[in-house]
Amino acid sequence: MLKETQTAGLRTLLSDGSRVIAEPQIVEQLSKDFYWYSPVLRKLLDGKVGDVVVQPLDAAEIQKILRYCYSEDIPVTVRGAGTGNYGQAVPLHGGVVLDLARMDRIEAIQPQGVAVCQPGVRLGTLENEARKSGWELRCYPSTVVKASVGGFVAGGSGGIGSVANGGLRDFQTVRAVEIVTMEPEPRIILHEGEGVHDILHAWGTNGIITRVWLSLAHAVEWSQCVVAFDTYDAAFDFSEKIATGREWTKRLVTTFEWPIPSFFTPILKYAPEGKSLIFFLIASNQCAALEAAGLAAGGSVPYSGIYQGWNARPLLSDYTWNHTTLWAMRADDAYTYLQCGFDPAKVRDQMRQLRARYGTEILFHMEFMKNGTGQVIPGAIPLVYFTTEERLNEMINFCREIGVFVANPHVNNVEGGGRYRADNVQLLAKQRYDPKGLLNPGKMSTFHSESAPAGAVK
Ligand code: FAD
Repeated sequence: MLKETQTAGLRTLLSDGSRVIAEPQIVEQLSKDFYWYSPVLRKLLDGKVGDVVVQPLDAAEIQKILRYCYSEDIPVTVRGAGTGNYGQAVPLHGGVVLDLARMDRIEAIQPQGVAVCQPGVRLGTLENEARKSGWELRCYPSTVVKASVGGFVAGGSGGIGSVANGGLRDFQTVRAVEIVTMEPEPRIILHEGEGVHDILHAWGTNGIITRVWLSLAHAVEWSQCVVAFDTYDAAFDFSEKIATGREWTKRLVTTFEWPIPSFFTPILKYAPEGKSLIFFLIASNQCAALEAAGLAAGGSVPYSGIYQGWNARPLLSDYTWNHTTLWAMRADDAYTYLQCGFDPAKVRDQMRQLRARYGTEILFHMEFMKNGTGQVIPGAIPLVYFTTEERLNEMINFCREIGVFVANPHVNNVEGGGRYRADNVQLLAKQRYDPKGLLNPGKMSTFHSESAPAGAVK
Protein backbone atom coordinates (compact mmCIF):
# COMPACT_ATOMS: atom_id res chain seq x y z
CA MET A 1 0.00 0.00 0.00
CA LEU A 2 1.36 3.42 -0.94
CA LYS A 3 1.70 5.97 1.85
CA GLU A 4 -0.21 9.23 1.41
CA THR A 5 3.10 11.06 1.32
CA GLN A 6 4.15 8.90 -1.63
CA THR A 7 0.98 9.67 -3.60
CA ALA A 8 1.58 13.33 -2.84
CA GLY A 9 5.22 12.91 -3.87
CA LEU A 10 4.12 11.52 -7.23
CA ARG A 11 1.76 14.49 -7.73
CA THR A 12 4.61 16.96 -7.35
CA LEU A 13 6.42 15.31 -10.28
CA LEU A 14 3.81 16.15 -12.91
CA SER A 15 2.79 19.55 -14.24
CA ASP A 16 -0.80 18.55 -13.49
CA GLY A 17 -1.36 16.60 -10.25
CA SER A 18 -4.78 15.39 -11.44
CA ARG A 19 -2.93 12.87 -13.59
CA VAL A 20 -2.21 10.95 -10.39
CA ILE A 21 -5.49 9.20 -9.63
CA ALA A 22 -6.22 7.48 -6.34
CA GLU A 23 -10.03 6.97 -6.62
CA PRO A 24 -10.40 3.25 -5.82
CA GLN A 25 -12.98 2.63 -8.59
CA ILE A 26 -10.75 4.05 -11.32
CA VAL A 27 -7.65 2.36 -9.93
CA GLU A 28 -9.50 -0.97 -9.89
CA GLN A 29 -10.78 -0.52 -13.42
CA LEU A 30 -7.31 0.33 -14.73
CA SER A 31 -5.73 -2.59 -12.86
CA LYS A 32 -7.63 -5.17 -14.91
CA ASP A 33 -7.33 -6.69 -18.33
CA PHE A 34 -9.09 -9.64 -19.99
CA TYR A 35 -7.47 -12.29 -17.74
CA TRP A 36 -10.97 -13.57 -16.94
CA TYR A 37 -10.90 -15.44 -20.29
CA SER A 38 -9.03 -18.06 -18.32
CA PRO A 39 -10.76 -19.81 -15.41
CA VAL A 40 -7.28 -20.54 -14.03
CA LEU A 41 -6.15 -16.91 -14.11
CA ARG A 42 -9.49 -15.72 -12.78
CA LYS A 43 -8.80 -17.60 -9.56
CA LEU A 44 -5.26 -16.26 -9.41
CA LEU A 45 -5.84 -12.59 -10.25
CA ASP A 46 -9.29 -11.60 -9.01
CA GLY A 47 -8.91 -8.77 -6.51
CA LYS A 48 -5.37 -7.75 -7.53
CA VAL A 49 -5.15 -3.97 -7.85
CA GLY A 50 -2.62 -1.17 -7.92
CA ASP A 51 -2.60 1.68 -5.39
CA VAL A 52 -2.60 4.64 -7.72
CA VAL A 53 -2.81 5.39 -11.46
CA VAL A 54 -0.28 7.78 -12.98
CA GLN A 55 -0.76 9.17 -16.50
CA PRO A 56 2.45 10.60 -17.98
CA LEU A 57 2.58 12.60 -21.19
CA ASP A 58 6.13 11.89 -22.34
CA ALA A 59 9.39 10.03 -21.70
CA ALA A 60 10.76 12.84 -19.53
CA GLU A 61 7.83 12.50 -17.12
CA ILE A 62 8.28 8.73 -17.07
CA GLN A 63 11.92 9.22 -16.10
CA LYS A 64 10.84 11.39 -13.16
CA ILE A 65 8.21 8.86 -12.06
CA LEU A 66 10.59 5.90 -12.28
CA ARG A 67 13.36 7.80 -10.45
CA TYR A 68 10.94 8.45 -7.59
CA CYS A 69 9.54 4.89 -7.57
CA TYR A 70 13.05 3.45 -7.59
CA SER A 71 14.07 5.52 -4.59
CA GLU A 72 10.86 4.59 -2.71
CA ASP A 73 10.77 0.89 -3.79
CA ILE A 74 7.36 1.31 -5.44
CA PRO A 75 6.36 -1.34 -8.03
CA VAL A 76 5.28 0.00 -11.45
CA THR A 77 2.99 -1.88 -13.83
CA VAL A 78 2.59 -0.27 -17.23
CA ARG A 79 -0.72 -0.33 -19.06
CA GLY A 80 -1.72 0.30 -22.66
CA ALA A 81 -5.41 -0.33 -23.27
CA GLY A 82 -5.70 -3.33 -20.93
CA THR A 83 -6.95 -5.81 -23.55
CA GLY A 84 -4.31 -8.47 -22.83
CA ASN A 85 -5.60 -11.95 -22.02
CA TYR A 86 -3.00 -13.28 -19.61
CA GLY A 87 -3.25 -10.77 -16.78
CA GLN A 88 -0.07 -9.17 -18.11
CA ALA A 89 -1.19 -5.70 -17.01
CA VAL A 90 -2.61 -6.75 -13.63
CA PRO A 91 -0.34 -5.55 -10.78
CA LEU A 92 0.47 -8.40 -8.42
CA HIS A 93 2.06 -6.22 -5.75
CA GLY A 94 0.13 -2.96 -5.83
CA GLY A 95 2.05 0.24 -6.52
CA VAL A 96 1.73 2.47 -9.57
CA VAL A 97 -0.34 1.61 -12.62
CA LEU A 98 1.42 3.61 -15.32
CA ASP A 99 -1.34 4.37 -17.81
CA LEU A 100 0.12 5.46 -21.15
CA ALA A 101 -3.18 6.20 -22.92
CA ARG A 102 -2.29 9.91 -23.08
CA MET A 103 0.95 9.24 -24.94
CA ASP A 104 -0.94 8.84 -28.20
CA ARG A 105 0.93 10.89 -30.81
CA ILE A 106 1.79 9.50 -34.24
CA GLU A 107 5.06 11.28 -34.95
CA ALA A 108 5.62 10.23 -38.56
CA ILE A 109 4.65 7.86 -41.32
CA GLN A 110 8.00 7.75 -43.06
CA PRO A 111 8.08 7.53 -46.87
CA GLN A 112 9.77 4.10 -46.77
CA GLY A 113 6.82 2.69 -44.77
CA VAL A 114 7.80 2.98 -41.13
CA ALA A 115 5.44 4.46 -38.54
CA VAL A 116 7.03 6.28 -35.61
CA CYS A 117 4.72 6.74 -32.68
CA GLN A 118 4.22 6.99 -28.96
CA PRO A 119 3.11 3.79 -27.21
CA GLY A 120 -0.44 4.89 -26.39
CA VAL A 121 -1.47 5.27 -30.05
CA ARG A 122 -4.36 2.95 -30.82
CA LEU A 123 -3.61 0.48 -33.57
CA GLY A 124 -6.85 1.33 -35.40
CA THR A 125 -5.92 5.01 -35.46
CA LEU A 126 -2.47 4.13 -36.79
CA GLU A 127 -3.93 1.95 -39.56
CA ASN A 128 -6.28 4.78 -40.64
CA GLU A 129 -3.42 7.27 -40.67
CA ALA A 130 -1.05 4.94 -42.54
CA ARG A 131 -3.64 4.26 -45.24
CA LYS A 132 -3.74 7.99 -46.04
CA SER A 133 -0.21 7.63 -47.40
CA GLY A 134 -0.59 4.22 -49.05
CA TRP A 135 0.46 1.98 -46.15
CA GLU A 136 -1.26 -0.35 -43.69
CA LEU A 137 -0.34 -2.36 -40.60
CA ARG A 138 1.48 -5.61 -41.34
CA CYS A 139 -0.51 -7.38 -38.64
CA TYR A 140 -2.92 -6.41 -35.89
CA PRO A 141 -4.93 -8.10 -33.14
CA SER A 142 -8.70 -8.37 -33.47
CA THR A 143 -8.83 -5.75 -30.66
CA VAL A 144 -7.28 -3.26 -33.12
CA VAL A 145 -9.72 -0.43 -32.43
CA LYS A 146 -8.89 -0.29 -28.72
CA ALA A 147 -5.44 -1.88 -28.32
CA SER A 148 -2.34 0.30 -28.13
CA VAL A 149 0.89 0.02 -30.08
CA GLY A 150 2.94 -0.33 -26.87
CA GLY A 151 0.65 -3.03 -25.48
CA PHE A 152 0.76 -4.98 -28.74
CA VAL A 153 4.56 -4.85 -28.90
CA ALA A 154 4.96 -5.76 -25.22
CA GLY A 155 2.11 -8.21 -24.84
CA GLY A 156 0.67 -9.33 -28.19
CA SER A 157 1.80 -11.70 -30.89
CA GLY A 158 0.05 -11.26 -34.23
CA GLY A 159 -3.33 -11.46 -35.82
CA ILE A 160 -5.02 -10.21 -38.95
CA GLY A 161 -2.29 -9.83 -41.58
CA SER A 162 -0.07 -12.55 -40.05
CA VAL A 163 -1.04 -15.01 -42.81
CA ALA A 164 0.87 -12.76 -45.22
CA ASN A 165 3.40 -10.96 -43.02
CA GLY A 166 4.08 -13.24 -40.06
CA GLY A 167 3.81 -12.37 -36.39
CA LEU A 168 4.84 -9.22 -34.67
CA ARG A 169 8.28 -10.61 -33.90
CA ASP A 170 9.04 -11.72 -37.47
CA PHE A 171 10.64 -9.97 -40.44
CA GLN A 172 11.67 -6.84 -38.51
CA THR A 173 8.09 -5.68 -38.17
CA VAL A 174 9.20 -3.88 -35.03
CA ARG A 175 12.17 -1.88 -36.30
CA ALA A 176 13.09 -0.22 -33.03
CA VAL A 177 11.83 0.63 -29.58
CA GLU A 178 12.89 3.35 -27.20
CA ILE A 179 12.59 2.48 -23.52
CA VAL A 180 13.02 4.10 -20.13
CA THR A 181 14.84 2.01 -17.53
CA MET A 182 14.07 1.52 -13.82
CA GLU A 183 17.35 2.62 -12.26
CA PRO A 184 18.48 5.28 -9.77
CA GLU A 185 18.84 7.56 -12.82
CA PRO A 186 16.42 6.13 -15.41
CA ARG A 187 17.99 6.17 -18.88
CA ILE A 188 16.40 6.43 -22.31
CA ILE A 189 17.76 3.59 -24.46
CA LEU A 190 17.15 2.71 -28.10
CA HIS A 191 16.86 -0.97 -29.08
CA GLU A 192 16.97 -1.62 -32.81
CA GLY A 193 17.49 -4.53 -35.20
CA GLU A 194 17.86 -7.81 -33.32
CA GLY A 195 18.04 -5.78 -30.11
CA VAL A 196 14.26 -5.27 -30.16
CA HIS A 197 13.84 -8.89 -29.02
CA ASP A 198 15.22 -7.94 -25.61
CA ILE A 199 12.05 -5.97 -25.05
CA LEU A 200 9.32 -7.53 -27.26
CA HIS A 201 6.70 -9.54 -25.42
CA ALA A 202 8.38 -8.96 -22.06
CA TRP A 203 5.14 -7.60 -20.58
CA GLY A 204 6.69 -4.35 -19.40
CA THR A 205 9.01 -6.20 -17.02
CA ASN A 206 12.28 -4.82 -18.37
CA GLY A 207 11.62 -1.26 -19.54
CA ILE A 208 8.85 1.18 -20.34
CA ILE A 209 8.47 1.54 -24.11
CA THR A 210 8.15 5.22 -24.95
CA ARG A 211 8.49 5.19 -28.75
CA VAL A 212 8.03 2.51 -31.41
CA TRP A 213 9.18 2.24 -35.04
CA LEU A 214 6.81 -0.14 -36.83
CA SER A 215 7.30 -1.43 -40.37
CA LEU A 216 4.18 -1.13 -42.54
CA ALA A 217 2.95 -2.97 -45.65
CA HIS A 218 1.72 -1.46 -48.91
CA ALA A 219 -2.02 -0.81 -48.58
CA VAL A 220 -4.41 -3.09 -50.46
CA GLU A 221 -8.12 -2.68 -51.14
CA TRP A 222 -9.66 -5.59 -49.24
CA SER A 223 -12.91 -7.51 -49.48
CA GLN A 224 -14.52 -9.71 -46.86
CA CYS A 225 -15.80 -13.10 -47.89
CA VAL A 226 -17.48 -15.99 -46.04
CA VAL A 227 -17.32 -19.45 -47.58
CA ALA A 228 -19.35 -22.31 -46.06
CA PHE A 229 -18.85 -26.08 -46.36
CA ASP A 230 -20.90 -29.07 -45.26
CA THR A 231 -17.96 -30.62 -43.43
CA TYR A 232 -15.07 -29.26 -41.42
CA ASP A 233 -12.63 -31.37 -43.43
CA ALA A 234 -13.73 -29.71 -46.68
CA ALA A 235 -13.53 -26.24 -45.09
CA PHE A 236 -10.07 -26.95 -43.73
CA ASP A 237 -8.82 -28.23 -47.10
CA PHE A 238 -10.08 -25.14 -48.91
CA SER A 239 -8.76 -22.68 -46.33
CA GLU A 240 -5.36 -24.35 -46.36
CA LYS A 241 -5.23 -24.13 -50.17
CA ILE A 242 -5.94 -20.41 -50.19
CA ALA A 243 -3.72 -19.66 -47.17
CA THR A 244 -0.70 -21.43 -48.63
CA GLY A 245 -1.29 -20.49 -52.28
CA ARG A 246 1.18 -17.76 -53.18
CA GLU A 247 -1.13 -16.45 -55.90
CA TRP A 248 -3.69 -15.24 -53.36
CA THR A 249 -3.30 -11.82 -51.69
CA LYS A 250 -4.94 -12.31 -48.31
CA ARG A 251 -5.01 -10.71 -44.89
CA LEU A 252 -7.13 -13.21 -42.98
CA VAL A 253 -7.95 -16.91 -43.37
CA THR A 254 -9.93 -18.21 -40.37
CA THR A 255 -11.68 -21.58 -40.27
CA PHE A 256 -14.38 -22.54 -37.77
CA GLU A 257 -16.03 -25.89 -37.29
CA TRP A 258 -19.71 -26.00 -36.40
CA PRO A 259 -21.09 -25.14 -33.82
CA ILE A 260 -18.64 -22.23 -33.39
CA PRO A 261 -20.44 -20.07 -36.00
CA SER A 262 -23.68 -20.53 -34.01
CA PHE A 263 -22.11 -18.34 -31.27
CA PHE A 264 -21.82 -15.33 -33.63
CA THR A 265 -25.27 -13.99 -32.82
CA PRO A 266 -25.12 -10.68 -34.78
CA ILE A 267 -24.23 -12.45 -38.04
CA LEU A 268 -26.21 -15.68 -37.87
CA LYS A 269 -27.69 -14.96 -41.28
CA TYR A 270 -24.24 -15.68 -42.74
CA ALA A 271 -23.83 -18.88 -40.70
CA PRO A 272 -25.99 -21.63 -42.21
CA GLU A 273 -27.00 -24.32 -39.70
CA GLY A 274 -24.47 -27.11 -39.36
CA LYS A 275 -21.85 -25.68 -41.76
CA SER A 276 -18.20 -25.00 -41.16
CA LEU A 277 -17.18 -21.48 -42.19
CA ILE A 278 -14.10 -19.70 -43.48
CA PHE A 279 -13.71 -15.96 -43.03
CA PHE A 280 -11.43 -14.27 -45.55
CA LEU A 281 -9.98 -10.83 -46.07
CA ILE A 282 -8.91 -11.07 -49.70
CA ALA A 283 -7.67 -8.48 -52.21
CA SER A 284 -10.80 -7.03 -53.84
CA ASN A 285 -9.49 -7.82 -57.32
CA GLN A 286 -9.36 -11.53 -56.35
CA CYS A 287 -12.69 -11.77 -54.55
CA ALA A 288 -14.69 -13.04 -57.54
CA ALA A 289 -12.02 -15.66 -58.23
CA LEU A 290 -12.11 -16.76 -54.57
CA GLU A 291 -15.88 -17.11 -54.65
CA ALA A 292 -15.65 -19.17 -57.85
CA ALA A 293 -12.98 -21.39 -56.32
CA GLY A 294 -15.13 -21.88 -53.20
CA LEU A 295 -18.14 -22.89 -55.27
CA ALA A 296 -16.01 -25.23 -57.40
CA ALA A 297 -14.77 -26.90 -54.20
CA GLY A 298 -18.36 -27.62 -53.17
CA GLY A 299 -18.85 -24.64 -50.85
CA SER A 300 -21.35 -21.79 -50.81
CA VAL A 301 -20.77 -18.06 -50.29
CA PRO A 302 -23.17 -16.65 -47.68
CA TYR A 303 -21.48 -13.22 -47.75
CA SER A 304 -18.98 -11.15 -49.69
CA GLY A 305 -18.45 -7.42 -49.97
CA ILE A 306 -15.85 -4.66 -50.13
CA TYR A 307 -14.27 -4.03 -46.74
CA GLN A 308 -15.20 -0.56 -45.48
CA GLY A 309 -13.01 -0.23 -42.39
CA TRP A 310 -13.82 -0.64 -38.71
CA ASN A 311 -17.41 0.47 -39.07
CA ALA A 312 -18.17 -2.21 -41.66
CA ARG A 313 -21.05 -4.54 -40.79
CA PRO A 314 -20.43 -7.37 -40.73
CA LEU A 315 -16.89 -6.77 -39.50
CA LEU A 316 -15.58 -10.31 -39.89
CA SER A 317 -12.41 -9.72 -37.87
CA ASP A 318 -14.64 -9.19 -34.83
CA TYR A 319 -15.27 -12.95 -34.85
CA THR A 320 -11.70 -14.12 -35.45
CA TRP A 321 -8.50 -14.54 -33.44
CA ASN A 322 -9.34 -14.22 -29.76
CA HIS A 323 -12.70 -12.61 -30.41
CA THR A 324 -13.96 -16.10 -31.24
CA THR A 325 -13.45 -17.13 -27.62
CA LEU A 326 -15.40 -14.10 -26.43
CA TRP A 327 -18.46 -15.06 -28.52
CA ALA A 328 -18.25 -18.64 -27.24
CA MET A 329 -18.04 -17.46 -23.63
CA ARG A 330 -21.12 -15.32 -24.17
CA ALA A 331 -22.97 -18.42 -25.30
CA ASP A 332 -21.65 -20.60 -22.46
CA ASP A 333 -19.12 -19.33 -19.93
CA ALA A 334 -17.57 -22.78 -19.53
CA TYR A 335 -15.70 -22.19 -22.78
CA THR A 336 -12.09 -21.18 -22.67
CA TYR A 337 -9.25 -21.61 -25.18
CA LEU A 338 -5.74 -22.69 -26.11
CA GLN A 339 -3.19 -21.14 -28.45
CA CYS A 340 -1.69 -23.78 -30.73
CA GLY A 341 0.55 -24.29 -33.72
CA PHE A 342 -0.14 -27.45 -35.71
CA ASP A 343 2.45 -29.20 -37.85
CA PRO A 344 1.51 -28.51 -41.51
CA ALA A 345 2.62 -32.02 -42.50
CA LYS A 346 0.63 -33.75 -39.75
CA VAL A 347 -2.21 -31.37 -39.02
CA ARG A 348 -5.01 -33.68 -40.16
CA ASP A 349 -3.70 -36.55 -38.06
CA GLN A 350 -3.17 -34.23 -35.07
CA MET A 351 -6.74 -32.96 -35.31
CA ARG A 352 -8.01 -36.54 -35.65
CA GLN A 353 -6.15 -37.60 -32.50
CA LEU A 354 -7.51 -34.66 -30.53
CA ARG A 355 -11.04 -35.36 -31.68
CA ALA A 356 -10.70 -39.05 -30.85
CA ARG A 357 -9.50 -38.31 -27.33
CA TYR A 358 -11.57 -35.25 -26.41
CA GLY A 359 -14.63 -35.30 -28.68
CA THR A 360 -16.29 -31.89 -28.77
CA GLU A 361 -14.53 -30.82 -25.58
CA ILE A 362 -12.19 -29.20 -28.11
CA LEU A 363 -13.59 -27.28 -31.09
CA PHE A 364 -11.37 -26.33 -33.99
CA HIS A 365 -10.83 -22.65 -34.75
CA MET A 366 -7.84 -22.31 -37.08
CA GLU A 367 -5.88 -19.15 -37.89
CA PHE A 368 -3.38 -19.54 -40.69
CA MET A 369 -0.19 -17.58 -40.20
CA LYS A 370 3.27 -17.29 -41.69
CA ASN A 371 6.07 -18.38 -39.38
CA GLY A 372 9.51 -16.79 -39.08
CA THR A 373 10.90 -18.93 -41.90
CA GLY A 374 8.18 -17.87 -44.33
CA GLN A 375 6.06 -21.03 -44.20
CA VAL A 376 2.31 -20.60 -43.77
CA ILE A 377 1.22 -22.89 -40.94
CA PRO A 378 -2.13 -23.81 -39.38
CA GLY A 379 -2.13 -21.86 -36.15
CA ALA A 380 -5.16 -22.33 -33.95
CA ILE A 381 -7.08 -20.86 -31.05
CA PRO A 382 -9.29 -23.88 -30.34
CA LEU A 383 -12.16 -23.57 -27.93
CA VAL A 384 -11.98 -25.81 -24.91
CA TYR A 385 -14.94 -26.73 -22.74
CA PHE A 386 -13.43 -26.26 -19.29
CA THR A 387 -14.11 -28.70 -16.49
CA THR A 388 -11.02 -28.75 -14.28
CA GLU A 389 -7.50 -27.33 -14.34
CA GLU A 390 -6.12 -30.89 -14.30
CA ARG A 391 -8.10 -31.78 -17.41
CA LEU A 392 -6.93 -28.60 -19.15
CA ASN A 393 -3.30 -29.35 -18.33
CA GLU A 394 -3.74 -32.93 -19.47
CA MET A 395 -5.02 -31.62 -22.82
CA ILE A 396 -2.06 -29.24 -23.12
CA ASN A 397 0.35 -32.10 -22.38
CA PHE A 398 -1.35 -34.33 -24.92
CA CYS A 399 -1.11 -31.60 -27.58
CA ARG A 400 2.61 -31.35 -26.92
CA GLU A 401 3.02 -35.16 -27.00
CA ILE A 402 1.56 -35.31 -30.50
CA GLY A 403 3.67 -32.40 -31.73
CA VAL A 404 1.16 -29.55 -31.43
CA PHE A 405 2.88 -26.43 -30.09
CA VAL A 406 1.00 -24.76 -27.23
CA ALA A 407 1.58 -21.22 -25.95
CA ASN A 408 -0.28 -21.69 -22.69
CA PRO A 409 -2.64 -18.74 -22.12
CA HIS A 410 -3.45 -19.90 -18.59
CA VAL A 411 -0.24 -18.79 -16.92
CA ASN A 412 0.67 -15.37 -15.64
CA ASN A 413 4.36 -15.13 -16.42
CA VAL A 414 6.40 -14.37 -19.53
CA GLU A 415 8.19 -17.72 -19.48
CA GLY A 416 5.17 -19.97 -18.98
CA GLY A 417 3.31 -18.55 -21.96
CA GLY A 418 5.67 -20.34 -24.30
CA ARG A 419 6.83 -17.20 -26.09
CA TYR A 420 9.94 -16.84 -23.99
CA ARG A 421 13.23 -16.81 -25.85
CA ALA A 422 15.70 -19.60 -25.14
CA ASP A 423 18.57 -17.10 -25.39
CA ASN A 424 17.22 -15.33 -22.27
CA VAL A 425 17.65 -11.85 -23.76
CA GLN A 426 14.54 -10.54 -22.01
CA LEU A 427 15.84 -11.71 -18.63
CA LEU A 428 19.29 -10.28 -19.31
CA ALA A 429 17.67 -6.94 -20.17
CA LYS A 430 15.69 -7.06 -16.92
CA GLN A 431 18.86 -7.62 -14.95
CA ARG A 432 20.41 -4.58 -16.67
CA TYR A 433 17.45 -2.22 -16.56
CA ASP A 434 15.43 -3.19 -13.49
CA PRO A 435 17.89 -4.45 -10.86
CA LYS A 436 15.41 -4.11 -8.00
CA GLY A 437 12.68 -6.02 -9.87
CA LEU A 438 10.14 -3.19 -9.59
CA LEU A 439 8.73 -3.37 -13.14
CA ASN A 440 5.58 -5.51 -13.22
CA PRO A 441 6.99 -7.66 -10.40
CA GLY A 442 6.18 -11.35 -10.40
CA LYS A 443 5.67 -11.64 -14.17
CA MET A 444 9.20 -12.74 -15.10
CA SER A 445 9.55 -15.83 -12.99
CA THR A 446 13.22 -16.51 -13.78
CA PHE A 447 14.26 -13.12 -12.40
CA HIS A 448 15.71 -13.02 -8.90
CA SER A 449 17.27 -10.00 -7.30
CA GLU A 450 19.14 -10.15 -4.04
CA SER A 451 18.41 -6.47 -3.62
CA ALA A 452 14.70 -6.83 -4.36
CA PRO A 453 12.62 -4.66 -2.02
CA ALA A 454 9.63 -5.81 -0.02
CA GLY A 455 7.27 -4.85 -2.83
CA ALA A 456 9.09 -6.91 -5.44
CA VAL A 457 9.14 -10.62 -5.95
CA LYS A 458 12.32 -12.51 -5.23
P1 FAD B 1 -2.16 -4.07 -22.43
O1 FAD B 1 -3.12 -5.18 -22.12
O2 FAD B 1 -2.44 -2.77 -21.79
O3 FAD B 1 -0.69 -4.52 -22.08
C1 FAD B 1 -0.16 -5.73 -22.51
C2 FAD B 1 1.20 -5.95 -21.83
O4 FAD B 1 2.12 -4.99 -22.34
C3 FAD B 1 1.18 -5.73 -20.32
O5 FAD B 1 2.11 -6.59 -19.72
C4 FAD B 1 1.67 -4.30 -20.13
O6 FAD B 1 2.31 -4.15 -18.88
C5 FAD B 1 2.65 -4.19 -21.29
N1 FAD B 1 2.76 -2.84 -21.82
C6 FAD B 1 1.78 -2.03 -22.26
N2 FAD B 1 2.30 -0.87 -22.70
C7 FAD B 1 3.64 -0.95 -22.53
C8 FAD B 1 4.74 -0.06 -22.76
N3 FAD B 1 4.55 1.13 -23.30
N4 FAD B 1 5.98 -0.48 -22.42
C9 FAD B 1 6.22 -1.72 -21.90
N5 FAD B 1 5.21 -2.59 -21.66
C10 FAD B 1 3.95 -2.21 -21.97
N6 FAD B 1 -3.56 -10.42 -29.14
C11 FAD B 1 -2.94 -10.72 -30.30
O7 FAD B 1 -1.70 -10.68 -30.36
N7 FAD B 1 -3.65 -11.05 -31.41
C12 FAD B 1 -5.01 -11.08 -31.42
O8 FAD B 1 -5.60 -11.28 -32.47
C13 FAD B 1 -5.69 -10.81 -30.20
N8 FAD B 1 -7.03 -10.84 -30.15
C14 FAD B 1 -7.67 -10.51 -28.98
C15 FAD B 1 -9.07 -10.51 -28.91
C16 FAD B 1 -9.73 -10.20 -27.73
C17 FAD B 1 -11.23 -10.17 -27.71
C18 FAD B 1 -8.98 -9.88 -26.59
C19 FAD B 1 -9.65 -9.49 -25.30
C20 FAD B 1 -7.59 -9.85 -26.64
C21 FAD B 1 -6.93 -10.17 -27.82
N9 FAD B 1 -5.53 -10.14 -27.91
C22 FAD B 1 -4.91 -10.46 -29.07
C23 FAD B 1 -4.74 -9.66 -26.77
C24 FAD B 1 -4.55 -8.11 -26.79
O9 FAD B 1 -5.75 -7.48 -27.20
C25 FAD B 1 -3.47 -7.63 -27.71
O10 FAD B 1 -2.27 -8.32 -27.50
C26 FAD B 1 -3.24 -6.12 -27.62
O11 FAD B 1 -2.32 -5.74 -28.59
C27 FAD B 1 -2.74 -5.65 -26.27
O12 FAD B 1 -2.66 -4.24 -26.31
P2 FAD B 1 -3.08 -3.35 -25.05
O13 FAD B 1 -2.77 -1.94 -25.39
O14 FAD B 1 -4.45 -3.62 -24.63
O15 FAD B 1 -2.03 -3.90 -24.01
